[in-house]
Amino acid sequence: MLSNMDFINKELEDVRKRCIDDIPGSEIVACHPAAVRIRIVRTKYKRLEVCMQFQNKYPDEPIIIEIKSKTVPDKLKEGLTKICDEQAKTLLGKPQILHIAKFVQQFLADNPFSVCSEEVSFIKRELITEKDEIKMKQKSGVIVITIRETEYFMKFRLKVPDLYPEQQIVIENVENNFPDLFHKMFLAQTEEMARRCVQPPLRKKPKDPPFEPAPSLKKVASYLIDCLRNYPGSICPVCRERAFTPNPEHTVKDDTHGRYVVWVYCGHLFHKGCLDEFFKTPPFTGGKKCPSCQKRIYHDKWNITPKVAEDRWAHQEARRRELDEVVDFLQ
Ligand SMILES: [Zn+2]
Ligand SMILES: [Zn+2]
Repeated sequence: MLSNMDFINKELEDVRKRCIDDIPGSEIVACHPAAVRIRIVRTKYKRLEVCMQFQNKYPDEPIIIEIKSKTVPDKLKEGLTKICDEQAKTLLGKPQILHIAKFVQQFLADNPFSVCSEEVSFIKRELITEKDEIKMKQKSGVIVITIRETEYFMKFRLKVPDLYPEQQIVIENVENNFPDLFHKMFLAQTEEMARRCVQPPLRKKPKDPPFEPAPSLKKVASYLIDCLRNYPGSICPVCRERAFTPNPEHTVKDDTHGRYVVWVYCGHLFHKGCLDEFFKTPPFTGGKKCPSCQKRIYHDKWNITPKVAEDRWAHQEARRRELDEVVDFLQ
């Protein structure tokens, strides 16, 4: 039995009157003494329902809160419920419903990371080491990451848009000391990867399920950080020395110089001088193969420019899609 029906009826009346005006994106699903349910929608992906129930001695006891959502990660729902419970305890003796709903709405507005909290935890846990740095800018939904590997570093920004994951992560270089070609390539490939998460493929078979945008944050962060970790220590397969110069300030910019770093078609790095020498040295039969991965490399297109790499990337993706289609057909 609820002991304070007058108080409750008055509060429910007030909720019906003020909820939609006071709480942007809200909608009353149920509003009676047995249960109150308020739906709050900020975007297609940031939507949840706050379900509340009066306890016997309400409002001298906190209202019971449950948060339901199919799009917000479970861990975040639990966390948010806990904070709401704490809030309710500070409102004893007063109407609690609109306060709680307002609090949840504000939380969604202030936390662009609410739809990717699990991806953010993964990045912090698995990708960032003690040498690195990660800063979360809650209000703007920006993650600033600095990755340090040997003497090389890159500081970049990942922006989570309001309509994430329907809109892709935006990647931006802040500063770095990688050779020009490399940081541009890393960003171009990462950008392309993010784009493919939200844009349907060009060729599509009628029986394919409808395209659904996929979360891109974890994917792009993993790929970019992997590049930043692996390339600085990469060994030239010919001389077995590091391809990058140990001191980033001494990076060779002249692409005819022997120590200029060449990114070969297979993905391995050579010194320009070492690669020239390698091509001049027998055996020549069967073409030249990369000593590291045995993939055939060609003299006329050993060198990767951002354009070549993007084309290659697109080609690989198209090839992968064709294979997927063949697999579909066989099933
Ligand atoms: Zn070399
Ligand atoms: Zn190779």
